[in-house]
Amino acid sequence: MVPSLHYDMQVPAMIEFARNDLVMKVCAYAGAGKFTIEEREVPEITAREILVKTKVVGVCGTDVHKAIHQTVPEGTVLGHEISGVVERVGENVLQFKPGDKVAIQHHAPCMSCKTCLHGHHSLCDQYLETNVIPGGFSEYIRIMPENVKHTVKRMPDNVDFVEGAFMEPLSCCLRGFGKLDPLPGDNFLILGLGPIGMLFCQIAKAFNANCVTGIEIDPFRLQFAKNTLGINHAFNPKMDSWDSFAVDKDIEDFDHIIITVGKGSVYQGTFDHVARGTKVLFFAECPPNQEIILDPNMVYKHELVLLGSYSSAPRYLTMAMDLISNGSIAVRPLVTHIFPPEEIGKAISLAKTARESLKVMIQFQD
Ligand SMILES: [Zn+2]
Ligand SMILES: [Zn+2]
Repeated sequence: MVPSLHYDMQVPAMIEFARNDLVMKVCAYAGAGKFTIEEREVPEITAREILVKTKVVGVCGTDVHKAIHQTVPEGTVLGHEISGVVERVGENVLQFKPGDKVAIQHHAPCMSCKTCLHGHHSLCDQYLETNVIPGGFSEYIRIMPENVKHTVKRMPDNVDFVEGAFMEPLSCCLRGFGKLDPLPGDNFLILGLGPIGMLFCQIAKAFNANCVTGIEIDPFRLQFAKNTLGINHAFNPKMDSWDSFAVDKDIEDFDHIIITVGKGSVYQGTFDHVARGTKVLFFAECPPNQEIILDPNMVYKHELVLLGSYSSAPRYLTMAMDLISNGSIAVRPLVTHIFPPEEIGKAISLAKTARESLKVMIQFQD
């Protein structure tokens, strides 16, 4: 309903600003890996919030994990790798205006508690209390004040919506990579060459790694990492034995190992590849109750370093957008499939099976 002039004059500006009678399309989780397209009301916003019209949303491994393992209630709207256009801003929002192209991270830390000050931004109490509403796989999303303040980034003109949607996952990788505190010329092993593994390969190369080795069982992904990204070695444990491969390729000790596959057996297998002082980054969520066996002397006598990195922090969002914009990290070639929202179920199952695919995305039309 379009408000009459008379109506406009009767209501305070903020309420007038927030009102809308529109409906929008959302992809709602319907249990057991299934989704339905629902019509819901476009969210209203308050004075310090913004409304974003969603353009592109990447499918993340955690979306797949939640959908397959049913860790979220039915009706949940998943999706958190988001780019879009600011549709409307609350009256107290000064840094954004309608029409701005933006990328968004869904959780926002407070930036001032002890946890944040220690750099554990993703463990801040506020972090998981914030989110985009109702979720990324929605035609419009409401951005809470905490997110408006710290986790919405304007996209440079040379970054398109597909590329912008990589800000969130790339920022997570940059944060994890930073925890390794590597030196140029280091040797890296990346376990799993999905979209996240591919981002780590590129970050390591951009950081002047001496050697990047990837381990993956999917031939398409191995070929891509070797031929398109130019990693030094691509190993398929289903086809070859590691010992002969390592001797044949004259592979040096690894300074860093990055685990991007959420399986206890993959985590356990990592310890076959550690050397003196190797730093191991735990970067993938496992199903519950997975265990690994660790010889304490590997940590004590060989100074093995185990690091975890979950999600992101605001400074890495800026860094990610800069690296996408200046071409240091090429995200476009990682996109193999773009689906309309109606085909979200297909997108999730493709991302799960990972067959001949890398990044799978959902694109909303105007
Ligand atoms: Zn994610
Ligand atoms: Zn905090």
